[in-house]
Parts: sequence; C-alpha cells; structure tokens
Amino acid sequence: MSFRLANLDSRAVLVDATGYAYDLETISDGRLGPDLMAAIADIDALHDLDATLGDRDPTGRLDDGVLGPPVPRPPKIFAIGLNYASHVAESQMEPPKVPLVFTKFINCITGPTADVELRGEAVDYEAELVVVIGRDGRDIPAAEAWDYVAGVTAGQDISDRALQFAASPPHFDLGKSRDSYGPIGPVMVSPDLLPDRDAVAITCDVNDERRQDGSSADLIFDVSALIEYISAHATLEPGDIIWTGTPDGVGAASGKFLVTGDVITTTIEGIGTMRNVCR
Ligand code: ZN
Repeated sequence: MSFRLANLDSRAVLVDATGYAYDLETISDGRLGPDLMAAIADIDALHDLDATLGDRDPTGRLDDGVLGPPVPRPPKIFAIGLNYASHVAESQMEPPKVPLVFTKFINCITGPTADVELRGEAVDYEAELVVVIGRDGRDIPAAEAWDYVAGVTAGQDISDRALQFAASPPHFDLGKSRDSYGPIGPVMVSPDLLPDRDAVAITCDVNDERRQDGSSADLIFDVSALIEYISAHATLEPGDIIWTGTPDGVGAASGKFLVTGDVITTTIEGIGTMRNVCR
C-alpha cells in the first residue's frame, strides 16, 4: 500500500520505482481525471491503482516531460519557523514554546525544476520536508496524525530576508510568498515509502557547496505535533500542505544569499531531488 504521485506535463501520474509514469486518467479508465488535487483527495484509490501497476503498460517516463508541483493548488499552506534547534541557534533566537506558524501564499507554488525569480538582495534558501494532508480533520490527536497524511514531498521555502524583517514585529508571509518562492516536488510519496517517516535526511546544495545537511528527526515539533496543533485551530482538508521548517545552514547565517545563476539542489531521502536555478 504505497504510491508515488507526480505532476507530469500538468497531468496526474503514478510513478514506479524505476521512473516510469502511468497516467492516472488512463489507468483508472476515466474514473480519476488528470487533476492532481482531486487525486490527493482520493488516496485510497491511489493506493489501489498503484498495486496494479505491475500489470499495466507505462504511459511515459518522468524524465520525458516537465514536472510541475505535485500539489499545484493547496487550499491552505502552513509553514513553520524556527523548528530545528540548530537553525534557532544560528538565527540567534529563542526556541519557540509553541509552533511558529505562518503562511506562504499560493502564487509562490512552483515545480521542482522551475526557475526561482530573484527579487531583492537578501534572498535565501530553506530546504524542508513538506507534508500533504489527505483527509478532512480537526482536533486530530498526535497519535493519529499520520493517518491524515496523503504524502510528503520536498520544498524550498525561498525567503526574502529584507522583506521578512522590514516591519517590526517581523512578518514572514509576504517575504516568503513572492512568485516562484515555493518550489515543491519532484514527487509526492506516501509516508510508508520513507525508511523512517520521523527521520528523513534533508540536504541543500547551492551550486556544488553543501549548505544544509539535517534530519527531520531533529524537528522541535515533529509532524504529528504540528498536525495536532494546527488542526486544533483550523480544520485541515485534502491538499493542505505544511512546510515543517528548515535545519541550519541558511544564507542569512553565513551571509551567502542567492544570486543569479545559482543552482539550488534540494534532496530528501525517499522522495527525490529538486533543482531550481535562480534568475
Ligand atoms: Zn521555512
């Protein structure tokens, strides 16, 4: 019971372990359409269809088309600041007593190979595990939280630090929501495909330099705690996403902000790699 879902040339596809793609509308005989958001709301069907891939002919390969964001239109986007002790320390802040929740607006969402359109002199990268909700829920207990997760993907929480701290107190939303500041992908995988869903390796390279090297095992508020906390205040629904925070190594700590031509390579264990070029 597992699946990999991707957005290939703007159509929902299931992907096997070797990179072959299976168009969802084709293999479901039209029961499911090409829309990613509808697919995410029907994860039982995705599990069932994935189990039949061995008997079917692929309809293409992932590397033969353009990958878009696996969750192109999230109803709600939550993101968490200062959720790794190492990043709290490099930011010279106090660890939060409750999750520091902000939003990224939907216009920032883009795909795993899309360009990041730099605006500003202090634009930063933040590699993050992104959780995709698959079922309606409110007041979800932490012990049941993973049951509400459709899958996970990789994300870059691109952040304009100058805009983020332009006002006092700071506001995160706008500086993290410029167009193209939210690449996600390359695929969304069901949590059971992760070696350990509460300890996945996260790395970020800029050009050939390793800048971030962390593990979600070090989250201050883990995925279950975040879902419990957020769902106590806002009803979650299929397609909602949660950016869980970034480990240390961001440019704001080293002074190495993004410049034109930089290639951001974001890899999460069990999910895959995104490559985004700064323009
Ligand atoms: Zn972030």
